[in-house]
Amino acid sequence: MSDRVRRIAEEKAARALRLACHRRAVVAALLATWPADPFARTDAEWSALRAALSEGCDNATIRNRTRQITAYLRVHGRLPAGLCELEGPPVVARQVSLAAADRQQVVVDRDDRIVRVWSKLPVCAAPVSYRDWAWHAAEVVLPPAVPAGVKVCTPTLRPRDGRVRVDLPWQTPHTPARVDGHTRGLGVDWGVNTLLTGTVADLEGGCVVVDGRPLRFDATGVSAKLVRLRRHREHLNTKADHLTRLRDGRPAHADPALTGKLARLQAEHAAVCARIRHLNHALAWSAARWLVDHASAVGATVIYVEDLATLEAAGRSRSLNRRLSGAVRGTVFTAVAHLAAKADIAVVTVPARGTSSGCPRCGTAVTHVKTPEGRVAGYRWAHCSCGLSLDRDHAAAQRIAARGLTNQTKTRRDRNGQAAIRTATDTPVRRRAPTPKQTRPAPVKTSRLLPLRRPGPAATRRSDCCRGRCRWCRSAR
Ligand SMILES: [Zn+2]
Repeated sequence: MSDRVRRIAEEKAARALRLACHRRAVVAALLATWPADPFARTDAEWSALRAALSEGCDNATIRNRTRQITAYLRVHGRLPAGLCELEGPPVVARQVSLAAADRQQVVVDRDDRIVRVWSKLPVCAAPVSYRDWAWHAAEVVLPPAVPAGVKVCTPTLRPRDGRVRVDLPWQTPHTPARVDGHTRGLGVDWGVNTLLTGTVADLEGGCVVVDGRPLRFDATGVSAKLVRLRRHREHLNTKADHLTRLRDGRPAHADPALTGKLARLQAEHAAVCARIRHLNHALAWSAARWLVDHASAVGATVIYVEDLATLEAAGRSRSLNRRLSGAVRGTVFTAVAHLAAKADIAVVTVPARGTSSGCPRCGTAVTHVKTPEGRVAGYRWAHCSCGLSLDRDHAAAQRIAARGLTNQTKTRRDRNGQAAIRTATDTPVRRRAPTPKQTRPAPVKTSRLLPLRRPGPAATRRSDCCRGRCRWCRSAR
């Protein structure tokens, strides 16, 4: 085997090892500072953990690894010695990263929309000499979504469903949007009532001013559909479990009908899962498109969102978690970052702590009450002693926008280019005086429904009844 092939394998192994090293360091830090109650660390325990961890380890990683260690503790009655005890050997995907090889192994040439990937591959199962290796060409037609004039990189090959898939990255020059110096931004809250609730905020002389109009992306219909599909999926799961137990209790090939039924159930389960996945994806991307279009339309140069990693730590309601899985929010976030980068709009995360529990005007704790109309379930309205009365998601969006705009100088980009404000202070939000509305004449009161039954004696002339609108007059006509 040539050195180049070995290099591809080594690159793959090195990636897995680098990841394992990172995981091992996190687990070691957690074990060294294991607290009395792992889900309620004291301030001293948190600072000890932060000191032991490397820079840039997010809360989601800490939370997931803590859960993993707690599960181990429950089963074995003791803490694990390290990562190797905690989890099995890594599973490596079946793929070939051609980027690790040079031009003697891989050549990529391009003819407008057609990319030809030439790679030297063995012609038999166990190659022994140079003669057993030959150049193979794979032709890839670029999809229409890839713009002309981009630079095509060396791909990764992976087998799937009996075919070879080509993961072809492409590059296009892009300068990231600036992270400070903004005067108009969009604050967005992952809503309890709606998927996204936004507000436009301006920075005017150190004060944050809002116009008081909420922007809402309401996904009630799709959410209801998703809930129905998830329920159906659970139902199918229960049925399949039941049938599996029945089949396992019987001798082999005792009941072919049972096996057939089980196979049908599994096929339907897979179809429902795929439907949920596609719906989540479509929902996330349309929400992101809506948000970025709104930001462009109002001339905002930055979008502030809550940091997803700290969202659960902020103790959000369980109903939100049920209605929208974290995965959807993650997809929305990725999609927003992608679309905003194209529109030259910065996306900055702010800490989620206390965004919906504080008043945007005075900063004191708000109470969550029923909506003034009282038609919908839940406590969706924020009420404060200073006189604030607002939809709670809208209030949270105002607070997020204020946090972002006034802490712009603390924005940092991490290694992946993700801009974030780690610690933030709150500033009161002022509402702009409303522009005087045009006075309209008072609407004329009319009855909503036309009478089905003639209210009095028959009219002799059309104008006596309803001027030809009711069915009595129509039949007389
Ligand atoms: Zn207040």
